[in-house]
Amino acid sequence: LPECSLSRSLLDACPYAFTLDGQARITATGAYFPPGPDGPVGKEFCQVFSPRDREMNEVIAAFARSGEPPSPTAHKRLEIDLNGSDDIVLIGSLLPLSDGGLLFLGTLSPSLIGNLDKLKLTLSDFAPFDVLPDFAMMAQINHAVLVDTQMLNKDLSEARDHAVQARREIEIVAMRDDLTGLGNRAAFQRMANEISASVSAVSDSQVHMLLVDLNRFKPINDHFGHHVGDQLLTQIGQKLTDHVCENGHAFRLGGDEFAVLYRGIDYPSAFENASALVRSVNGTYATNETTLVASASGGFASLPRDADDFTSLYKAADIALYSAKKTTDAALICVSRSLIQEAVERDQLETELGMAVDIGQLSNAYQLQFDIDTGLIAGAEALARWHNPRRGAQVPPAEFIPIAESACIVPQIDLFVLEEAMRQSSLWRSQNIALPVSVNLSPVTLEMPGLTGRILQFLDKQAVDPSAIEFEITENAIIRDCEAVKANLSHMDRLGLNIAIDDFGAGQTSLSHLAALPVTRLKLDRCLITDIGSSERKQHVVRSLIELAGDLDLKVTVEGIETQAEADFIQAIGGVTAQGFLFARPKSAPELDPYLLAAAPHGRKPAANITSDRFQAAG
Ligand code: C2E
Ligand code: MG
Ligand code: MG
Repeated sequence: LPECSLSRSLLDACPYAFTLDGQARITATGAYFPPGPDGPVGKEFCQVFSPRDREMNEVIAAFARSGEPPSPTAHKRLEIDLNGSDDIVLIGSLLPLSDGGLLFLGTLSPSLIGNLDKLKLTLSDFAPFDVLPDFAMMAQINHAVLVDTQMLNKDLSEARDHAVQARREIEIVAMRDDLTGLGNRAAFQRMANEISASVSAVSDSQVHMLLVDLNRFKPINDHFGHHVGDQLLTQIGQKLTDHVCENGHAFRLGGDEFAVLYRGIDYPSAFENASALVRSVNGTYATNETTLVASASGGFASLPRDADDFTSLYKAADIALYSAKKTTDAALICVSRSLIQEAVERDQLETELGMAVDIGQLSNAYQLQFDIDTGLIAGAEALARWHNPRRGAQVPPAEFIPIAESACIVPQIDLFVLEEAMRQSSLWRSQNIALPVSVNLSPVTLEMPGLTGRILQFLDKQAVDPSAIEFEITENAIIRDCEAVKANLSHMDRLGLNIAIDDFGAGQTSLSHLAALPVTRLKLDRCLITDIGSSERKQHVVRSLIELAGDLDLKVTVEGIETQAEADFIQAIGGVTAQGFLFARPKSAPELDPYLLAAAPHGRKPAANITSDRFQAAG
């Protein structure tokens, strides 16, 4: 716009604006000032206004004398008393115009906002700026008006409509998950807030929540790459969209976690839809690279049936999901009182476990292992024991190790057991008892950077030979295919430490891993040996595994031998180590000492035919 129409537009837009010519005479004003002979136009600035600031007064007087516009620093801000009244003040900036004049772009002082009646103004007088004036905003207002001059001639309500529409569009994008087109976590949270507000207002409102999590999604992602994982998630999002009922809203909360919120629908109907959704996920999915089989687990909870508010509803659905992930025979589980109780106990154990090592509640038990051919003691497995005073009893490792793993406190426990086992091994050696000791390492511990450094420290401190220590790792650690695990394992191998695969045959055994990894022993899981007499297939499997291990130059321990028949079967094959309640239960070191010291020589039991009688002496 040419400058004259620019200043005219500004004067139209800003009721408190006016312009001065080179002699500081008022040439035009905004709508606030009275027009005609009563108005300020044509009069000198100093006749009409009194700037509050003495310096500013001089700036204007100098301008009137010389016609030179004030320097950029001088014309920053001008405060003017109006109507001779102290509390009516115009605040604004003086801006030089190219014709040598000045433009005062002003607004009312903030202190007047509460007194608008007095001035017979309404808030709409401020509409051009859509803000209430304050000092901080002045610069922005002037800046915006000067830059965006086009806007001045536009209908402001149209501009506001545009802004509202743009905000709506931004909001829609911000609330949508890019991959699946479902609502994202922010959208879920927004609905949660709405529900929380309505739940307190309408006490009998029914809300149900389904949480869905894919089974074994991480291995798919790790193995085939994220682009394949993303294609799978997109298709699963589509399935949820297709199958969700009209009272349900589906969201992707992140990763492979989905949620559905149901409102205005009864419990059986919501549950029926939730079951259908979880079932709908099961199936095969074609991606660009490969075809995948996927399945999901679901947790379901309802408000007010299972929870008082939205936060506890989410927790309840999560508890049910946790339970569904653990069970293999149910894809969808509804939360129950006992599940909630279990979760509370688990939380409590987690807190207590965090302190257990430090306050000396952990100790080691040792279960002896025997050479099945000679009957000699072949070694001992160190097993963690936790005495929990609140329970007044020991918590079994099968209960606390998984809690420790999920809470990432298991490395602390494993390292305690390891250090203690080395201390004990060194003590036994000083008593002429040479007993190889094996220690369990959780997959979480195996990922720990600096693990081998800690192991070396312990070995040095107790002067223990690395060949006297064996580490038991589970197949889970191996199938994670994690670089940190591989690095630790190969470092341990270089240090001459023995590595055994524990519970072999109970999980997703991959024989290909055996050849590739620095493993020295297989520990066959109890499930392979239990009731072996009644299953020819099992007998065949165990025989073949022992043979295969021999071919791969791996030693074998058979775990969980409880009956004489099982022992006889293993002894007939021969060449392995045996561990089981039939021979010895886990005992504390002081309980084992008399037995070990009596066994001759060097703590070894003399060779004998294997019978339960002979081994019961070990406990
Ligand atoms: P595991 O490493 O396979 O240890 C053998 C488990 O089988 C021990 O259970 C032992 O008491 C039990 N067992 C031995 N012989 C028999 C038998 O004839 N019949 C039956 N039914 N069970 C037998 P425990 O001590 O309850 O430990 C269970 C699991 O907890 C261990 O299985 C191991 O996976 C884990 N665990 C124990 N201590 C530690 C530890 O210090 N660190 C880690 N990461 N895991 C540990
Ligand atoms: Mg073990
Ligand atoms: Mg085992």
